Amino acid sequence: MFNKNPIIKIIFTILLGLTCLIGDRLSDNLTHAVIRAIVDNVTHALIAGLSWIIVTLLLNHSVMRNLLEITSCALMSSLIDVDHFIQAKSWKLSDATRLSKRAFLHSTTVPILLWTLMLLTSKVSTNEKMEHYSWIILMSFLSHHIRDATRRGLWFAPFGSTRPIPYYVYNIAIIILPYIFYYLMTHKIFTRKIPDYTLYQRETVDSV
Ligand SMILES: [Zn+2]
Repeated sequence: MFNKNPIIKIIFTILLGLTCLIGDRLSDNLTHAVIRAIVDNVTHALIAGLSWIIVTLLLNHSVMRNLLEITSCALMSSLIDVDHFIQAKSWKLSDATRLSKRAFLHSTTVPILLWTLMLLTSKVSTNEKMEHYSWIILMSFLSHHIRDATRRGLWFAPFGSTRPIPYYVYNIAIIILPYIFYYLMTHKIFTRKIPDYTLYQRETVDSV
């Protein structure tokens, strides 16, 4: 019942916006490369985690009971930057930040393909958890890619990249993303309605 309180949803949405502003300002002003990379990465994790908390609240699911998926969303978003090191074939930050090409996990085509594949699998197997995980993974990637897009645009390999997106567009996109997810998840736009499917019943009442 506590989760139904709109104030909590508003507080977390404001917190999400503030995390973007503070995290970006901090990482822009830090001169120490390692600390800057850590702050940047933690900001990615916090944005993804807060975004999934908002989705959880909107679904009237319990935040406490879903801490594992909230943490997973945050961790996955943070781990995306490992691809810099994989592509550089080096664990040195200086090598990882001096790549001539963008690293593979930064292609938005990757999460879109993965999400489509998981949705199709969930549809065939009527596995509702699989569909839920597909949205968590998509959130972790999209929140990360949208934030990075202020510098280098969104990259849809092999088709190319958009231009860098304006800072205010990124901010608005991050704030509305959980609400778009909630809409798409509860309206089952991409999957058929599964009988007795309980995950996304909008009137579900859950305790914190
Ligand atoms: Zn990145």
